[in-house]
Amino acid sequence: MTEKIPYKIYLEEDEMPKSWYNMRADMVNKPAPLLNPATKKPMSAEELEAVFCSELVQQELDNENAYIEIPQEIRDFYKMYRPSPLVRAYCLEKKLDTPAKIYYKFEGNNTSGSHKLNSAIAQAYYAKKQGLKGVTTETGAGQWGTALSMACAYLELDCKVYMVKVSYEQKPFRREVMRVYGASVTPSPSETTQVGRKILAAHPGTTGSLGCAISEAVEVAVGTPGYRYVLGSVLNQVMLHQSVIGLETKAALDKYGIKPDIIIGCAGGGSNLGGLIAPFMGEKIRGEADYRIIAVEPASCPSFTRGVFAYDFCDTGMVCPLAKMYTLGSDFIPAANHAGGLRYHGMSPVLSQLYHDGYMEATSVTQTRVFEAAEQFARVEGILPAPESSHAIRVAIDEALKCKETGEEKTIVFGLTGTGYFDMVAYEKFHDGNMDDYIPTDEELAKFRLNLPKVD
Ligand SMILES: *Cc1c(COP(=O)(O)O)cnc(C)c1O
Repeated sequence: MTEKIPYKIYLEEDEMPKSWYNMRADMVNKPAPLLNPATKKPMSAEELEAVFCSELVQQELDNENAYIEIPQEIRDFYKMYRPSPLVRAYCLEKKLDTPAKIYYKFEGNNTSGSHKLNSAIAQAYYAKKQGLKGVTTETGAGQWGTALSMACAYLELDCKVYMVKVSYEQKPFRREVMRVYGASVTPSPSETTQVGRKILAAHPGTTGSLGCAISEAVEVAVGTPGYRYVLGSVLNQVMLHQSVIGLETKAALDKYGIKPDIIIGCAGGGSNLGGLIAPFMGEKIRGEADYRIIAVEPASCPSFTRGVFAYDFCDTGMVCPLAKMYTLGSDFIPAANHAGGLRYHGMSPVLSQLYHDGYMEATSVTQTRVFEAAEQFARVEGILPAPESSHAIRVAIDEALKCKETGEEKTIVFGLTGTGYFDMVAYEKFHDGNMDDYIPTDEELAKFRLNLPKVD
């Protein structure tokens, strides 16, 4: 290839994906089904439809169709902020003095500041199409709540967000952005739900958790006519919607004849990584190409690297279906970690199965090293990265430095999932040397495993 690779590769409008890609269709071992927590039997479509929108239930259960058309209205919305650029990190490469070629797919170029809008608009669209009045959800750090608020505002749907109390108090600006887009935001646990009141009675003064906010949002959705619950990660349908990231990345690379060697993404519930790797993983499963795929998680919440592959509750209140995934146990609460989006105890069942079957690797990194990488990146590439995204930056830099040692010219692609403007308290802690690098001990982790549900 003699042509110089542009600093940013954008696709033309007619090169944009028209369908999402469903990795499950190509998977040899399909992800295990969601189970009803009471009967331990696979959830039927009918049961799921009490909680989720009907069309999304179809997508959730669809292990057959490799391509699912993206409705025109969603494609029109995507056009407002997509295609997202695939950026050649020339400046970072130069700074690292590495022969590696580094690319990142930047998903932070929308007001919500992350990739979550890709699934938010899809879920809101199907809720609207079903004639619903509104949706409920939870948000931790606030990126998902913000994305969903934007999507609901656009489609004129009501949006009720349960926000983990500690974030509600510490991130007032996130909360206000959601309110700009018309969402109602309730700190969780709250007195507005049965499960919230129960948790408050048992743990007075608790600052909440994602698992507990999920329980509240589900209770409200199930108990309010015309409402359904939507979730920003973990579920199969979310992986599907996020495949738009990987499809664009693959199209952009193919345009210039570039073949990646290593693909890296941070993993909270797995949606950005699942989306980024989707078409590449498809090739890998079908035996058409090979890639090293690396999931990066925080050392304080190491679901892949130190969890178990088992059925577990998705929420603390134990109202949600059971999912078979890499998990730390549903009442695991990670030490204060500033990558709010990576604090979930479990992992996507799709990625869990692929990891279990040896199709991808996982590694964990400590916070201080993550913020070092974030700052190094910001100073040469300009973008102020989200702490979550910076986990991927860390490992991309580490891999590029290995190439420097060996002289190998590997091509590295990583997902830059979002911007960190609302995470300045975290950056402040880093600058002031107050960052905590706590890693849970084996004994602590073992304790949470005792509460895994028994499924035979
Ligand atoms: C939510 C979030 C993540 C983690 O979620 P996944 O479902 O694992 O992708 C990563 N980065 C950003 C910026 C996020 O908002």
